[in-house]
Amino acid sequence: MTKPIEIKRLPTGIHIKWSDGTAFDIPSRLLRESCPCASCREKHGSLSHEKPLGSNKKKAALKIVESSSDEELRIDRIWPIGNYALGILWGDGHQTGIYTYNLLRELETALPANAAGSGSATPR
Ligand SMILES: [Zn+2]
Repeated sequence: MTKPIEIKRLPTGIHIKWSDGTAFDIPSRLLRESCPCASCREKHGSLSHEKPLGSNKKKAALKIVESSSDEELRIDRIWPIGNYALGILWGDGHQTGIYTYNLLRELETALPANAAGSGSATPR
């Protein structure tokens, strides 16, 4: 299994270097939105369903984004959990999410432009 060999805390997220030679930045917003703990998953379930493009209403429904406070997006601490996951302590004290390496890899593949430049695996 691919494991992180280096994790850097950035002002805007975390940088992970993996044992397979790839490296990614994961924005803290994405991490927080993907927090896998039970209470966050409930929230996501109801809130984060964006409609696909193509609904041609002229007046887009007012979209109210519950803006995340800075604290919610500030990563105070990262620690390893066993050898399969990371724990993250957020600025607002939230720390129940367990970010498995699998989840982190999934987040990375969901990132649009991240692969560019940060050492993606050889295309073949
Ligand atoms: Zn959570």
